[in-house]
Amino acid sequence: MTGRQELIDTLMADFFPPEYFSDKADRSGITVAGIRITSREAIAKYTRIKLERRLPAVQTFKTCEDFRHLDVECCDSCHSFAIYEMEAVPLPEGGYAWVCCALDRAIRPEWHAERDKRFAKTAAGKLVKRMFGERD
Ligand SMILES: [Zn+2]
Ligand SMILES: [Zn+2]
Repeated sequence: MTGRQELIDTLMADFFPPEYFSDKADRSGITVAGIRITSREAIAKYTRIKLERRLPAVQTFKTCEDFRHLDVECCDSCHSFAIYEMEAVPLPEGGYAWVCCALDRAIRPEWHAERDKRFAKTAAGKLVKRMFGERD
């Protein structure tokens, strides 16, 4: 369990350590509404705003640690890019959890099954199916 503000601060500190700001510009930058932004300070600010929008206004979030009893292994790639890859997932008992894709699937398997089914019907889904040689 972690406080919302604490979660935001931790994610920001992990992704934008003090060394990041030793250079003023980020060569690759990010694009916001068609504008390329390379100022590291501006990039950090935009990332924070986006993160705040993704996080529902609740006091606390459960985290992967709170779901050890499900016996699911965490997804490394989500955890290394937590700020972009991890997700605020609504919980059956109310509130939200900030978790990686592995825990997300364990928490709401029906939702994922439904989404996978819908995805299978899209053009991209059909392509993936063909690539992996699955049949209906
Ligand atoms: Zn995890
Ligand atoms: Zn993942």
